[in-house]
Amino acid sequence: MFIALSLVAYRVYLLADSLLLPTNEEEIAAIRAIVERQNESAFYRPERKQLGRQPASASKNVYSGDLHVHTNISSDAYLFGNRMDMDTAYRIAKGERANSRTGERIELTRPLDFAALTDHAEGFGRRIACESADLSDAGREQCEETATPSLIGFLKMRGRAEQRPMIRDLSVFNDDVGLERNYAAQTWRQVQEAAERHYEPGAFTTFAAYEYSPALPDRGKHHRNIVFRSMDVPKYAVSGFDAVSEIDLWKDLEATCTNDCEFLTIPHNMNKTWGLAFSGETIDGVAYTEDDWKLRERNEPIVEMFQIKGNSECSVAFGAGDEECGYEQFFPPCDQGQETACIYSTSMARDGLQIGLALEDQIGVNPLEFGLIGSTDTHNSNPGDAEEWDFTGSTALAASPAERRMSDENVTGIRNNNPGGLAVVWAPEFA
Ligand SMILES: [Zn+2]
Ligand SMILES: [Zn+2]
Repeated sequence: MFIALSLVAYRVYLLADSLLLPTNEEEIAAIRAIVERQNESAFYRPERKQLGRQPASASKNVYSGDLHVHTNISSDAYLFGNRMDMDTAYRIAKGERANSRTGERIELTRPLDFAALTDHAEGFGRRIACESADLSDAGREQCEETATPSLIGFLKMRGRAEQRPMIRDLSVFNDDVGLERNYAAQTWRQVQEAAERHYEPGAFTTFAAYEYSPALPDRGKHHRNIVFRSMDVPKYAVSGFDAVSEIDLWKDLEATCTNDCEFLTIPHNMNKTWGLAFSGETIDGVAYTEDDWKLRERNEPIVEMFQIKGNSECSVAFGAGDEECGYEQFFPPCDQGQETACIYSTSMARDGLQIGLALEDQIGVNPLEFGLIGSTDTHNSNPGDAEEWDFTGSTALAASPAERRMSDENVTGIRNNNPGGLAVVWAPEFA
């Protein structure tokens, strides 16, 4: 009995310890000193290539990029301690070297051809509010909490997001809905301006984009990235507070993205949707109508099947049992009665393709005839940094130094992250 209790106490201690992050410059300097002792040349280091324009080719070129990147605008990235902004992220994408806050090297062997920064729309406006002069005491308290790197703070934030409907905490906006709209629209304009600043026609393509991020229990998610074709975009980004489900998201976007505006939505982490990805039900259990499937068919031509939080292409439990499906699995297939932290037959992309064929027989269109991409979902402002040789985790201070991210005692799940993937386009030229 005593031994069992001691083991429980030890595990609680380990959990508490792994949830603590450095909170001030002195503590970060101590981590930097550990990083300096890391052997950075322990692994094979590929030769670096410069960004160059590929000549247009009728037989087509390969262009690679990342359509899923978080910077310091995302509240979770900020809580993990990431302070690198959108400009830094674009510079890294174009081949500039940088160091993380703890001094770990960030560099791409080959610069990207395109990138979209997809910060969580749910946090838009919050940093502007925190920097404004007329902040209420309650707002200031909230801002201080988010400025203190903390995994406990992250879990608290997530707990709020898991409520249905999602709880919109307006304290940083002095409980003023109008102010929230105003600041959120400002952040969205900054996202567009950063994309404009770094667009180099023919060499490096940028997009106005953001992430729509409703949360599910047990750290599940039902997220989509929204990418616009040009800078002709709606005035507001649609967050999980604005649209209760993907159906409302598409309806809102179709109503506001008009004239020359064009968009597409890209779901990710279908492995963490607890079966919702291709089930034909919304997060609140409402069945799709035929019109809803057609909305999806019009607006969702691609899925992100691989990223830092694992494989969403297929599971060995379903379909052909392809052994390659055993790669980067985060969860086992669901046991009888199990609802979360497992894979359903409606979770993975290959199963979705099959469901689409069956739907085509019923409704005359195939809403799940999608293309496949990888991306990173990095929260370190380092687009396309999907190489293993210098992978420094994806969650800033929560994954640094190396001994922290590789530690058996790190029970936060970060140890399972991989460097993620890339989106690849096969095209004659990139404008
Ligand atoms: Zn997400
Ligand atoms: Zn994301």
